[in-house]
Amino acid sequence: MDFNNLTIRRFHEGLTQKLFSVVEATTFFLDTIKKQDPHIHAYLSVREDEARASAREIDNNIKEGKETPLLAGVPCAVKDNMLLEGEVTTAASKILKTYKGTYDATTIKRLKNGSVVILGKTNLDEFAMGASTENSGFFKTLNPWDSTRVPGGSSGGSVAAVASGMAFAALGSDTGGSIRQPSAFCGVVGLKPTYGAVSRFGLIALASSLDQIGPVTRTVEDARILFDTIKGKDGYDSTTVDLQNFKSSSSVKDFVIGIPKEYFIDGLDDEVKKGLEVAMEKLKKLGFKFKEISLPHTKYAISVYYIVLTAEVSTNLARLDGVRYERARDVNTLSDVYMHTRGEGFGDEVKRRILLGTFVLSSGYYDAYYTKAQKVRRLIQQDFDEAFKQVDVIFAPTTPTIAFKMGEKSDPLSMYLADIFTCPINLAGLPSLAVPVESLFSALYSPSHLPVGFQLIGKRFHENDILSVGELYEKE
Ligand code: GLN
Repeated sequence: MDFNNLTIRRFHEGLTQKLFSVVEATTFFLDTIKKQDPHIHAYLSVREDEARASAREIDNNIKEGKETPLLAGVPCAVKDNMLLEGEVTTAASKILKTYKGTYDATTIKRLKNGSVVILGKTNLDEFAMGASTENSGFFKTLNPWDSTRVPGGSSGGSVAAVASGMAFAALGSDTGGSIRQPSAFCGVVGLKPTYGAVSRFGLIALASSLDQIGPVTRTVEDARILFDTIKGKDGYDSTTVDLQNFKSSSSVKDFVIGIPKEYFIDGLDDEVKKGLEVAMEKLKKLGFKFKEISLPHTKYAISVYYIVLTAEVSTNLARLDGVRYERARDVNTLSDVYMHTRGEGFGDEVKRRILLGTFVLSSGYYDAYYTKAQKVRRLIQQDFDEAFKQVDVIFAPTTPTIAFKMGEKSDPLSMYLADIFTCPINLAGLPSLAVPVESLFSALYSPSHLPVGFQLIGKRFHENDILSVGELYEKE
């Protein structure tokens, strides 16, 4: 059985028709991990015994005639910044090398309730800070299509695992592009939900006003299924909303798609440009109309993002003080505690952001930087609100380039620019779906033909709109 040619729905049919068992499916993925992961390095930890045990339990439940949820037995991976009770959760930082989750993140709990098999925890840029997974405190993940290139980041491990058949689907987190940018680099589908659509309880916070957890899958249809499983109100995250707030527009076929002129700029790679043209042609063939729109404050998004984000980083990471989590040993003074934990445990990028964030929040600079950034953030949000009075969804490139070479972006600023098209959407709190121009099923990606993606941005809580357009595109 080749489980890599199935969608979740077909997997479910196969399982209920007894064409295979969950143990067989799980074994297939664990074997693939053994073969592939020594070359790709997507996983920080593989839960072989636990995965087999839960597979056996799900098989037994099916045998006993218990209800089989749609996701039952689907082998998934989760980014290692989500807590799993009793299991090491590092956020790819040395400072949390041995830290064990004390409870399940709500998303993990919902996956477990859906009888998903969790294969393991995937690599990321340390605390999700980065766009290449080169910033992991442990090792770098490689792009499955070309090992000289990055898979993108920070959810590079989750995305590389799905793209290389080492997981059926995965969860990632997206604060400024971390689900969508790697999805574009590796040819998979990634959904960044509306802020408040999915609980962040049990997610190690990067920037609390921007973070969202979302699915990474091989098809849009699968992304919808995973999203339906994890979304909705959670008493542990007061930003989450009730299910009835998820809106659904009636006639997707009549949608007008907005093309923001600020996103189609000179710096776009030729491959990306060509890919976007192909995608737009297909959407036109499907009957969608296009309309040019303007999002005039786009040019400030990276600056605003790196002020708001670093401010939140400096406060969120203050809890890693060498007392409550990883303990400093053999130290006499408070400054020794810091040197031995924060000094040694954090990588350079994390330190850079804590310093920047502490600076923008410091008295005398707070209004000049932080308050100002919040005001411009509001203008960016209003750009989208205005645009959505004229169009139903927005079509845009996900990234300005295809996957770049390992080590190519050694200067932090050039790395920050990788998120130029994704971070405005987090600042505005909107949902966005990254779709590969060519599906993972149909494409023959190779080092000379790397994936290109586009994103469909929706109105707040209109995930259904972008998923519906994405599904039509995928069928075409
Ligand atoms: N690359 C962006 C950053 O470094 C986005 C990270 C993310 O979405 N987690 O902050």
